Amino acid sequence: MELQIRDVSKTYPNGVQALNNVSLTIPAGMYGLLGPNGAGKSTLMRILATLQEPDSGSIRLGEIDVVREKDRVRQTLGYLPQEFGVYPKVSAEELLEHFAILKGIAAKKARREVVEALLRQTNLWDVRKQKLGGYSGGMRQRFGVAVALLGNPKLLIVDEPTAGLDPAERVRFLNLLSELGENSAVILSTHIVEDVSELCTRMAIIDRGTILLEAEPLGAIEQMRGRIWRSVIEKRELAEMEREHAVISTKLLAGKTLVHVYADGSPGPAFDPAEPDLEDVYFATMAGHIGRRRERAEAAA
Ligand code: ADP
Repeated sequence: MELQIRDVSKTYPNGVQALNNVSLTIPAGMYGLLGPNGAGKSTLMRILATLQEPDSGSIRLGEIDVVREKDRVRQTLGYLPQEFGVYPKVSAEELLEHFAILKGIAAKKARREVVEALLRQTNLWDVRKQKLGGYSGGMRQRFGVAVALLGNPKLLIVDEPTAGLDPAERVRFLNLLSELGENSAVILSTHIVEDVSELCTRMAIIDRGTILLEAEPLGAIEQMRGRIWRSVIEKRELAEMEREHAVISTKLLAGKTLVHVYADGSPGPAFDPAEPDLEDVYFATMAGHIGRRRERAEAAA
């Protein structure tokens, strides 16, 4: 089931324009929405989850008009918000059972089966009797997925799920999501580039409410080949480097500074060609070397 977002805009009462004419086509599979804090990701996720309305624009999920037919959307949609509050004194099994009742799974036997299947799928079966207050961040996130999956959603929206997870929990959580992506559309909103590069077959980059790039991660990385150059410098040389070259990112490397520069040809003898990755795509897009920021700058020139 394809999700079509057309010209969606949203301005909050305080005057902040969180979304500015956002258009995206999101097919089945894992879709990454990547952008820095404040880019507008959560606003878009909440609008898709029918918790908030856009000022203008249209959204269709297959046949369903997402803005007008909220009840129909809610039947086919699962939403895992950024902050997932749980009742700390209740066990995972009890709370999931409770949500299943709210979801309208009335028959007791069917409900038991659904609850068991979801707890097994999210790897929480062995700890199902534990109180949620004692769950780790990762376990809580996986419980959130179990809740979001009640009722077999065709679209699953996951907002900043890996923030605060330790590396092992993060891997387990991403594996769970990638299994889900085999059967339904999953939108993953994140500011973490690796989440997208490890998982998503399609992606968009958003900043200040505007979509800057829509791409397939592997294709976008391939297009950067020959355009990313690396140099290891002393920290005090950075200011000069930034004056003379299009520095897109810097990283500390054993006390030195690793610089990535965007250039169509070699910027000089101090540089080596770098093997491009999605981080280069992201920073080159944000800096306006590729994508719509560049197209706009070229149109204005
Ligand atoms: P992200 O999820 O990418 O961090 P958000 O959608 O949360 O971005 O926020 C986008 C912009 O809208 C930010 O400038 C944020 O401060 C602002 N914003 C978000 N929610 C509200 C709100 N309820 N009222 C006013 N401004 C908001």
